[in-house]
Amino acid sequence: MWNTVTHDSIVENIGNSFQIGNTGHSYLISGEISVGKTTLAFDMARMFNCESNDKPCSSCTQCVRIDRNVHSDVRYLVPNSSTDFIGINHVKELKSEVYLKPYEGKNRIIIIDQIHRLTKEASNSLLKILEEPPENVIFILLTNKFKSVLPTIVSRCRIFQLKPTSRDVISLHVTNNFSINNEMVKEISAISEGRLGWAIKASNDFQIVENLKKEIIEINDIFNSGIDEKFKYIDNLASEFSSDRNSLPMKLQLWIDFLRDLIFYKSGFKERLKFSIMQKNYQIIDSQISYSEIVKLIVNLDSIIQYFDNNINPKLLLERFVLDLPEIRKSFNGI
Ligand SMILES: [Zn+2]
Repeated sequence: MWNTVTHDSIVENIGNSFQIGNTGHSYLISGEISVGKTTLAFDMARMFNCESNDKPCSSCTQCVRIDRNVHSDVRYLVPNSSTDFIGINHVKELKSEVYLKPYEGKNRIIIIDQIHRLTKEASNSLLKILEEPPENVIFILLTNKFKSVLPTIVSRCRIFQLKPTSRDVISLHVTNNFSINNEMVKEISAISEGRLGWAIKASNDFQIVENLKKEIIEINDIFNSGIDEKFKYIDNLASEFSSDRNSLPMKLQLWIDFLRDLIFYKSGFKERLKFSIMQKNYQIIDSQISYSEIVKLIVNLDSIIQYFDNNINPKLLLERFVLDLPEIRKSFNGI
């Protein structure tokens, strides 16, 4: 049984190719964070090693050991937590493994998450393995930044792009699998933006949603504040960034979500808002900012996020961004 939900045609394609003996040596699965890439990769690892007829079965020794993450032939590699990169040492370690025969299964599976975080040296070293892949070794590479993956690596892989699913599908899945009230289901479906993995996490721990709501309120406050407050906020963001590189892109993504919500509000698509609790706040800002100003801010934020990948100090970029924010007059109706 596949644990992957909603990506039916991709699952069918991979399953059918495998059944007719047409298995690739390297796969590249791209898609947003929490859209289901890792789940699909582990499903494939089970399918490639499953001992039953209906693969993956979830009950044979191979499937169970892979599910429990204790299978010695299935390796899951993520970027180093302190550098946020996958370096040459990781790939050297892999090299010493991949030329050995699988130990307990039929195939050795190497899953590398965030393949775009490979250093240049590591990419070139991996490329050499992909060019002449050892027998019974299957690479499953995952990325949420397809455009940043080295084209020479992309060209060696079968590519599958996981798309977000609809709010209705998320809503139905959450309703059927979790005992939470309708209002929570609605909020989770809206904020998940079609990423089922995220919706499941949030259904298990609703505090994730509450924290995001707090952050979006903070963004609204900064948006409406004076320039001194805005600069103080930037100082804090920049110092957070020095201790946790992932925090800033995530926060800026929330700024983009906030601005996109403003566009939906302006266009009258209120049912598409990600944070519908903010409607009154959007109403105050609405008349004071134009479409083109919002779009310009989103484009700027997008390029700032790209710059982070190149290790550039964010402070100057962020200062320029807040200087572009419009000055919002306080509410005329006391909200
Ligand atoms: Zn099985």
